[in-house]
Amino acid sequence: QQAAFRAVRDLPAVTLDGQDVTLLINAGLMIDLTHLKDAGAEGIGLYRTEVPFMIRDSFPGVQTQADIYSRILDHAGSKPVVFRTLDVGGDKLLPYWRGGHEDNPAMGWRAIRIGLDRPALLRQQLRALLRAAAGRSLSVMFPMISEVAEFEAAKTLLQREVEREKSLGGSLPTEIKVGAMLEVPALALQLPQLLPRCDFLSLGSNDLVQFLFAADRGNPRLARRYDTLSPAVLTLVRDVARRCDEHGVPLTVCGEMAGQPLEALALLACGVRRLSMAPGFVGPVKTMIRSLELASLTATINQLLTLPDHSIREQLRSYALERNI
Ligand code: PEP
Ligand code: MG
Repeated sequence: QQAAFRAVRDLPAVTLDGQDVTLLINAGLMIDLTHLKDAGAEGIGLYRTEVPFMIRDSFPGVQTQADIYSRILDHAGSKPVVFRTLDVGGDKLLPYWRGGHEDNPAMGWRAIRIGLDRPALLRQQLRALLRAAAGRSLSVMFPMISEVAEFEAAKTLLQREVEREKSLGGSLPTEIKVGAMLEVPALALQLPQLLPRCDFLSLGSNDLVQFLFAADRGNPRLARRYDTLSPAVLTLVRDVARRCDEHGVPLTVCGEMAGQPLEALALLACGVRRLSMAPGFVGPVKTMIRSLELASLTATINQLLTLPDHSIREQLRSYALERNI
């Protein structure tokens, strides 16, 4: 099978009926970058900046961060990289920094909430990103955005850093794209207000599903209780994809869901055309895409999403098996 995946490596991710899909990888360590070419992906859809923070024993300074980000961009070459700003708290802890005890850390002081409350931290990171991307394109996204005002506040900090670099005479990126992560259900209800203000949206299904079902993503007792292939999750994804289309805003799904072939099939049927996943999943997902007839699947899923079922996994599995997908 590995050989079969290697065989599709340099082939496009296109369905039998000609729909192009963009496959990207999630990365965090420099070593992940070495998989970019092997995987047959078009870029990095999610670079988790907290990873280099997690393996150090103190906060990296601006220069250290800029060096890391710059090397990531060098490695990626002409392929795009989306940098997610620091997403700590919840299940991602830094050994040298404690936010204090919280009963509910997943719903606590984490990600952009920390960034906005400790703006010096976020501004240093944004400064490092601007410097690393000087003379090239920069894409930044903010994690765990819950309302439009948070996204606007984060963008304001970025703008201040841009002004600062300008006033210092530093060179800037040739373009700056700013996106939000959709991980909190409240934001899904604010898309008409959010989408005109962002360059791209990235749906983090790990957190979004956890909050949609109010079920801890790391709790083994709940692991099988709700299914990502439930009508609720997929109806939300379809709605988000439609709204992004209406506003011409590119949507990527970057949670674990994107890398599972059956889940990826469901996401495509819901209108998603960009998937970002751990490098090892690109081959299996691309193989699935190249054997898929999307128009008929879309009609099927629209039917399945009217069901009151716990999950439509079995129906989708049968659909795939019958068609040798
Ligand atoms: C997600 O929540 O789906 C996501 C991609 O972010 P992380 O897994 O890093 O929380
Ligand atoms: Mg997340």
